[in-house]
Amino acid sequence: MAADQKAESAPTAPTVIVVGSINVDITMTLPELPHPGETVTGGTTRQFLGGKGANQAAAAARLGARTFLVARIGSDEHGEMASCQLEEAGIETRFVGRDADVATGVAVVLTAEQGENLIGVASGANATLNAAFVESALSDFGRNVRDCVVVANLEVPMDAVAAAATWARSAGCRFVLNPAPARHLPAELLPLISVLTPNEHEVSQIGVASPWRLLESGVGGVVVTRGSEGVDLYDGSESGMTHVPPFPVEAIDTTGAGDAFTGALAWALATGRPLIEAASLASVAGALATRAVGAQSSLSTAAEVIQRWTSQHTAATQV
Ligand code: ADP
Repeated sequence: MAADQKAESAPTAPTVIVVGSINVDITMTLPELPHPGETVTGGTTRQFLGGKGANQAAAAARLGARTFLVARIGSDEHGEMASCQLEEAGIETRFVGRDADVATGVAVVLTAEQGENLIGVASGANATLNAAFVESALSDFGRNVRDCVVVANLEVPMDAVAAAATWARSAGCRFVLNPAPARHLPAELLPLISVLTPNEHEVSQIGVASPWRLLESGVGGVVVTRGSEGVDLYDGSESGMTHVPPFPVEAIDTTGAGDAFTGALAWALATGRPLIEAASLASVAGALATRAVGAQSSLSTAAEVIQRWTSQHTAATQV
């Protein structure tokens, strides 16, 4: 771990607990995508640590949050690789359980040189994350965690997500849900969500008509991420919706921008910032994460995000 990361993770650091998925992403770039039954040669491969849980935790840890991941992997080589890389990223892995009989989650991504891709996911051990495991992990934190932020996503079973939300409410922590991949959210989950972070496609796939309806159903705030268009924030204030303009970058790979955004939002909330400021800082972190290939290769430190955010705001007020 880099010395600056260690210093930022001192005991007083804000605390983020991510309940979510871990995958090993195996990517292959090919001259063109194969059709069924066809073989295309000439590929090059790379392996990355992925899964939304791991990506969101890595983003929060890089920003200096004391970050715990509650997740499951297999007792296989991929699990070993994931575990080492999570630790290198400064993430606490004591709540990452290992399954003896189930493989670590894997995503296989075939990308054509022109940019089209095909993705297959075997969720493996991620599908075994259940409410009992989450409750047992979270009970270790006791009641002394009021300022912490709990984050979950939908690459793990809904009962694990519900257990995380219920625990967060009982412990007095905020609960941030990234509803990806999108599916209908149970009505009883909605009042437990402090902040929901769908992208502009997911927001229409979660079974509630609009961000305003989500607020009426008890969600504390809705932050809709809109790629290079920035962010729309719905927090029930009189203005209805606040648009956070994008931070301008030359994007190279937007994979994982949403995960960098959600991890950064959790970090910023855990530092005590109000939602509008947290969303604005997270928008900068999401933009900066597009500067290199891979979800975790261009995550930013707090110093960089705050410096870029400050210069963007100074420039905006001088216009
Ligand atoms: P997802 O990866 O879930 O689809 P988005 O693509 O909406 O999420 O990205 C999340 C956030 O990251 C955006 O709301 C924006 O703030 C930032 N971001 C992503 N892509 C760009 C980009 N090309 N330029 C500037 N900011 C970006």
